[in-house]
Amino acid sequence: MFRISQYMRELAHAEQTGHYPEVRERKARGPVVIWNLIRRCNLTCKHCYALSADHDYVGELTLPEVFTVMDDLKGFGVPALILSGGEPLLRPDIFEISAQARKLGFYTGLSTNGTLIDRPLAQRIAQEGFDYVGISLDGLKPTHDKFRRLDGAFDRSLAAVRFLAEFGVKVGLRFTMTAMNAHDLPNLLQLMKDEGANKFYFSHLNYAGRGNIHRDKDAHHLATRDAMNLLFDRAWADAQAGCMDDYVSGNNDADGPFLLHWVRQHLPQWESALTERLTRWGGNASGQMVANIDNLGHVHPDTMWWHHDLGCVRDRPFSAIWNDTSDPLMAGLKQHPRPVQGRCAGCKYLAICNGNTRVRAQQLTGNPWFEDPGCYLTDDEVGAASTPLEVPAKTKAFNSIRRSKEAENA
Ligand code: SF4
Repeated sequence: MFRISQYMRELAHAEQTGHYPEVRERKARGPVVIWNLIRRCNLTCKHCYALSADHDYVGELTLPEVFTVMDDLKGFGVPALILSGGEPLLRPDIFEISAQARKLGFYTGLSTNGTLIDRPLAQRIAQEGFDYVGISLDGLKPTHDKFRRLDGAFDRSLAAVRFLAEFGVKVGLRFTMTAMNAHDLPNLLQLMKDEGANKFYFSHLNYAGRGNIHRDKDAHHLATRDAMNLLFDRAWADAQAGCMDDYVSGNNDADGPFLLHWVRQHLPQWESALTERLTRWGGNASGQMVANIDNLGHVHPDTMWWHHDLGCVRDRPFSAIWNDTSDPLMAGLKQHPRPVQGRCAGCKYLAICNGNTRVRAQQLTGNPWFEDPGCYLTDDEVGAASTPLEVPAKTKAFNSIRRSKEAENA
């Protein structure tokens, strides 16, 4: 996750005081765990990485198993659990799970589509003490309902945002940008302000483009740059005004170097301080400080790696699975610097970005260490040349690749 507002607040502080603040990256012992507790969902969204449907899935972790895993996670130094799905509120024991998580001292987040949250449920969520609730909104009403394949989904999710804000829950909007909803981004940012949400999570689609050439002409990459510039501008305006709303992004760690470009344009006097700061952040953390456990208890380097199974918590504790580098992917993800190839290996920002989201390279080429085809920075900007790659002219997004693979395997 790239914390845009945090850096903007530091830059605002630097502008006010003349000194870039001393900030230590707080490194927890264990990773943040995104835990897909249930695969069932009342929606069937177009871009769902869990490929969920509205029926029960057999073999999901039971409550006692969840508690056992939680004890292990606590002992391993995991600081935060993001309870997700499917739709996590469909799990009848979700509040027993969250209560135990809070009791053990985890930062506890809930990632939901929001459509099930009425006023009483919002009050219950507030009482349960979740640290944060993220609600997915993929555009304004027409766009969102189309994405979510449900008329009225937008109204229900927006009502959830309002109910949660009313009960004082820290609530944020989660937005995954595609070519079909990019036009709604400015209005969604305004909606965030109007509805009292405190956070905006911008998720890049796991998009691989047409290989590695013509990045400067690729429509998705250009739209991404526009979106990031908009987020940077908003976050900077908020930071200067002392507003504590948070803008964060995920699934494309080229955001770090791109922020550096923004700073070079707008606040060049802080470029070197920010370079140092972003290097300490260190970029992509999949397999290191971000982990995923799926509904069946299988562990993955992050939520985009469901096709790569590291082991099941029913067979071995998470802590043992996570530290096991006999898996070549995990060995590479934990290596520093990572064994990336091509233009990522020659990129002047490798220490900041850490080679980005490896799953795109793996999905497009079969080689997880190939340069990231989803990087939206140009060769000139990164100071390294792209490797020509033969890929079909059709643009690729991670989920479409996964869906076709699942269809093959069905
Ligand atoms: S070229 Fe690779 S290492 Fe450099 S910014 Fe892009 S993804 Fe990151």
